[in-house]
Amino acid sequence: MDKEIYLDNSATTRVFPEVAELMSRIMLTDYGNPSSLHQKGMDAEKYLRTAREQIASILKCKEKEILFTSCGTESDNLAIIGTALRHRKTGNHLITTKIEHPAVLEPMAYLEKQGFEVTYLSVDQNGQIDLSELEASIRPDTLLVSIMHTNNEIGTLMPIEEAGRIIKAKNPGTYFHVDAVQGFGKAEIRPKKANIDLMSVSGHKIHGPKGIGFLYMSENVKLQPLMLGGGQQGGLRSGTESVPLIAAIGLASEMCYTDLSGKRSRMYDLRAGFIEGLKAVPGVSVRNEDKEKNAPHIVSASFEDVRAEVLLHALEEHGIYVSSGSACASNHPSPSKTLIAIGTDKRFLDSTIRFSFSDFTTKEELDTTLAVLNDLLPKLRRFTRR
Ligand code: PLP
Repeated sequence: MDKEIYLDNSATTRVFPEVAELMSRIMLTDYGNPSSLHQKGMDAEKYLRTAREQIASILKCKEKEILFTSCGTESDNLAIIGTALRHRKTGNHLITTKIEHPAVLEPMAYLEKQGFEVTYLSVDQNGQIDLSELEASIRPDTLLVSIMHTNNEIGTLMPIEEAGRIIKAKNPGTYFHVDAVQGFGKAEIRPKKANIDLMSVSGHKIHGPKGIGFLYMSENVKLQPLMLGGGQQGGLRSGTESVPLIAAIGLASEMCYTDLSGKRSRMYDLRAGFIEGLKAVPGVSVRNEDKEKNAPHIVSASFEDVRAEVLLHALEEHGIYVSSGSACASNHPSPSKTLIAIGTDKRFLDSTIRFSFSDFTTKEELDTTLAVLNDLLPKLRRFTRR
């Protein structure tokens, strides 16, 4: 097999070696419990403080506004269910979009069963919400609006700052939650500037380990905790803090934001070149080309007369790793809700591949991928059409 070409960075990323080394040191040497009163506890506590400082300096927020969780999913659940249950007396209405990740859509469905009303905003063919529909949907009893920063399947960048302004102008009491799992580490995000009250992030999408995430929580937000116990993290998320994982997400965040603009322009260049190459392959259509409205690291393309799963495994034989739809939904046979919501032609629902880059992705790898696709597709189509 050729050298490995990993183009599935929206599913998960390789951990930075510096991050793995830091975790190893903490697990083997500085393994204290941050709640312990002795020196080993204080050493552990210092790692938590450092991680908070690293993240707060990126988001330009206060250190106490960072709450560590076990993953992006937990951060989304806590933001949405925690806000809804805490403020139930003030309102009963929630707003989100039709193309959110299941980590948002499932808590919304759960709250509907608890008697909340949820409005699902539609999106256009590029996955963009209509800001006038958002404005018209906000009511005096709207408790929370949840809109993703970057779509995980097609890379759409949502108009977060405009949405924040609209929400606060129409109802200053409505909380604004942003699922930034795919956006953090790839874009500058200033929650205060964008009127964001709550924002979810995951460690394993930014070259940190799996099993760690955080929730940015503006200091004026009050939540009902979902985890009860020893009262760690101000009682909002009980459970002994995972010091190695928290230190890891702090360092991984800092490393992603070092020379972010250089990394972004490099990734956008790679993306543009790859899209041009894909468009030259017969029977391939690429969505969301526009650089201004899409993330630098995601390319979604449909392949006429080829099933995505077949293509995925054929690429795998050449050491190329990609995804059909989003990884978390890939083991479900049902078609992607995002692709349906953007009005994808039926024949492409089952033939869409997501290529997702990281800062480690090279032009050479993408050129190899294009060459392999050019070679594979006619063969696979001959097989399909038989
Ligand atoms: N939100 C989005 C947009 C995602 O892409 C993902 C993971 O793919 C999640 C939430 C869930 O994050 P985690 O895997 O850390 O639970």
